[in-house]
Amino acid sequence: MRIAAVREQEGKIFGILEDGRFRPLLSEGAPVRDLRQVIALVEAKRLDYGAPRPLAEVRLAAPVGPLAKNVICVGKNYYDHAQEFARSGIDQSGDKQEVPEEPVVFTKAVSALADPLDPVAASADPTNTVDYEGELGVVIGRRCRGVKRAEALGYVFGYTIVNDVTARAVQQRHKQWFLGKSLDGFCPVGPCLVTADEFGAPDGQELATFVNGERRQFARLRDMIFDVPTIIETVSAYVTLEPGDLIATGTPAGVGIGFKPPRYLKPGDVVRVTISGIGELENPIV
Ligand code: MG
Repeated sequence: MRIAAVREQEGKIFGILEDGRFRPLLSEGAPVRDLRQVIALVEAKRLDYGAPRPLAEVRLAAPVGPLAKNVICVGKNYYDHAQEFARSGIDQSGDKQEVPEEPVVFTKAVSALADPLDPVAASADPTNTVDYEGELGVVIGRRCRGVKRAEALGYVFGYTIVNDVTARAVQQRHKQWFLGKSLDGFCPVGPCLVTADEFGAPDGQELATFVNGERRQFARLRDMIFDVPTIIETVSAYVTLEPGDLIATGTPAGVGIGFKPPRYLKPGDVVRVTISGIGELENPIV
C-alpha cells in the first residue's frame, strides 16, 4: 500500500495512491489528518475511501505527521560517506572516527518538515553552505521500547524518502548538529510512504540523489553500516518509539562537502532523491 498526503485549503489529508489516483481515506465519513490515525485504520483493516482524484490535480504533502517527536536521524551510516565526512573537517561532534563503533544519533526539529516540491530556502542560511543528504526514512508502526534487533522490522509501518538538508558551516560551528540540520524547510519528506509489506526489508533497493539531473549519490540500502533493525534496537533502548515516529537512516557518499572545492546548493538548483520501490522526492532550491 502506498500512503500519501495532499494539501487542501483546510489542511493536509491522508489517502492512498492507486492507479495514478489519490483516494482519500475516511474515518467515520471524515477526512484523516493524522498519520497515527492512518496507521490505526490500516492495522485494523478498516479502510473506507472518498472519491478518487487524478494525481495531476492534487498537491502532494509530506506523508507523515503531526510528529510527536523530532525526526530521529543517523549520521555517518555509509562507509564511503563516513570517510568523505571525516576528510571534510566539518565533523566537530567528538571522536572524528571515520567509521563509528556505535550509531551516531541526532535529531532535526519537527518545524523543518517540508513537502515534495516545496522550495528549500538556501537563502535562509547566512553561511551559504547548504548541502543535500538523500536518505531512507523509516516510519514506526507500533509503540515499542527495548526492541531486539531480530524483532525490530516488525515495528516498522513503512518507508519513505527524506532529504536531510544541512547548513554545513552551522553544523560545524555549533558542534552539535541540531541547528545546522533544523532550518525551516530543511526536511523534505515524500513523495509517499510505502508500507513494509509492500517495500520488503531494506536490502538491494537503490538510493540516488541528483542535482540538476547530475547523479551525485548512489548506494544500495544494504550498504548501511548500521542497518534498520540495529538503528531501532539502539534508539528504543533509551527512547520509547511510537506510531508515526520518523527515523532518517543516513546518507551515502557524494554530498556537496565531499567535493573539493565543496559544491553547495544555490538558488535555481533542483534536488531529486530517488529510492527504488518508493519514488522521487524533488525540491527546488531558492
Ligand atoms: Mg543525514
